Amino acid sequence: MVTSTEEKTSLNPRQNRSRFAPSPTGELHWGSLFNALASYLQARSQQGEWLLRIDDLDPARSHQRFIDSILYTLERFGLQWDGGVYYQSQHTEHYQAAVDVLCKNNQTYACRCSRKQLKRYHNQHPETPDYPGFCRNKTIDTRSQYALRVKTNRIPVVFSDPLQGTQQQILAQTSGDFIIMRSDKITGYHLASVVDDFNMGINQALRGYDLLQSSIQQCYLQQLLGYPTPQYVHLPVIVDTGAIKLSKQTGAKPITHNPVVETLFYLLIQLRQKPPPELRHLPRKTIIDWAVANWNIDRLKGCTKIKHQNQE
Ligand code: GLU
Repeated sequence: MVTSTEEKTSLNPRQNRSRFAPSPTGELHWGSLFNALASYLQARSQQGEWLLRIDDLDPARSHQRFIDSILYTLERFGLQWDGGVYYQSQHTEHYQAAVDVLCKNNQTYACRCSRKQLKRYHNQHPETPDYPGFCRNKTIDTRSQYALRVKTNRIPVVFSDPLQGTQQQILAQTSGDFIIMRSDKITGYHLASVVDDFNMGINQALRGYDLLQSSIQQCYLQQLLGYPTPQYVHLPVIVDTGAIKLSKQTGAKPITHNPVVETLFYLLIQLRQKPPPELRHLPRKTIIDWAVANWNIDRLKGCTKIKHQNQE
């Protein structure tokens, strides 16, 4: 139970609007449901809205069967979103408009460097930023394939995360100028996410600690585009016994057909919410209602990873 001595993290007094934004490149696994449940509970415990966005910009990696499975799994576990589903693939004109603004303000440039070329350079110069700016002052023939990068600078980007503390970074030294439009003309993840969060009115985004670097880059784009920065909250990532983050790439098992109540119960334990043992045998609605009423995100303060324990 939450005791009266535990203070809850205070959030924006405006209506809280949060989102879960999976990429349909696989089914949900333990780690992604952990994030979904945490952001759902955070929103609902503040009478906030919880929106679902499908990050399906990359047609080669996104599949309808994964979209169906994600929607089915969220509903099965009782995580009902507000309104319709927002699909990134239906909003390309908004991304283009943002790209046009950045281009007009001379904040972008065309780049023809290949990944292979950059990798080779990094192996020899590991201390340089991810992109060392090779094309920044070149004139590129834009009739051939090129990516668009946004120019970064030496002004520190700062934001405060209620769980992980103040984050600060000089992007020119870390990512360097990063991609906002890929050479295949697919919008880069950071730009799309920033435009959508703004258009969806998102003021709080809970996601994994592995996306902390992305939040810095996204904060920077928000500054350039004149958008407010949502409150970013970075949740611990779930790691396997080898301390590797559970992910589709590392073959994390789908959670689609796991037993509902038991799974929710163990997720709440992993979220450090201390569910009373009797909840394990009660209906899904009771466990979710209990979790909303007793949610205390502060119990995850300073925590960056949690070991996955199998519930069996
Ligand atoms: N679709 C991305 C992912 O699944 C974005 C997550 C986010 O921005 O919250 O990692």
